[in-house]
Amino acid sequence: MPRRRLIVANWKMHKTTAEARALVRALLADPSWQHPDVDVVLAPPFTALAAVSDELRGNPKLAYGAQTMHWANAGAYTGEISAPMLVELGCRYVILGHSERRAACGETDAEINKKVASALQHGLTPVIAVGETLEEHKAGLAKSRVREQLRAALDGFDDAARARCVLAYEPIWAIGTGFAEDPASANDVMGTMRSCAPGLRDVRILYGGSMKPTNVAELAAQPNVDGGLVGGASLDAQTFAELIRSAHPKVATA
Ligand code: PEP
Repeated sequence: MPRRRLIVANWKMHKTTAEARALVRALLADPSWQHPDVDVVLAPPFTALAAVSDELRGNPKLAYGAQTMHWANAGAYTGEISAPMLVELGCRYVILGHSERRAACGETDAEINKKVASALQHGLTPVIAVGETLEEHKAGLAKSRVREQLRAALDGFDDAARARCVLAYEPIWAIGTGFAEDPASANDVMGTMRSCAPGLRDVRILYGGSMKPTNVAELAAQPNVDGGLVGGASLDAQTFAELIRSAHPKVATA
């Protein structure tokens, strides 16, 4: 069965509650990006999750989730948010292991592994982000680096649990720089991800790193690219709608 396209919007630390409401309304008002075979997920800051939930009121056209979470259900973890809290707000997805959290918050592979376990236990779909630095890229280490990160994130899970994950390949040097990875090279690394552990054959793998309306079609045409994890281009309704439209599966003309 073909894998459904998936586009995940990572708003990072952007959008107040009012701005988040306006963006959701603008997206819902535009039918042009909506497609029965394309899933779209919004990942606003924690503070805007309730507002996004309220705007959507169960509308199936958009799902939503968080940009990170803690692995514990509750406890003395100042500033943190747990999986049960996200589930209560109607979240279905959570991005885990984003390179900005690894770099700025010191998130380790072992912690990401515990977060994946908690997400799965609570019925959230983890979107597990991996990727290499520019130095690693130049040294030809992209594949070995993502394999290492993925194996650590998925360590201890059986095939059925792994199959419930979404993976994201995000070359760190491509994030927010305007320079996306060459589609064929991204596809090559993503093929390695698919085969790096049992249970990953049919998971969705997203590309992330300067994905835009102008490059998404070529990226999404690659056999291992099932969609995108989108930062900057998801912050404006018109640009994001255009990006999703350009990622629609092409209808075969016989
Ligand atoms: C990201 O941070 O996940 C990302 C891909 O950002 P951008 O699209 O802005 O490169």
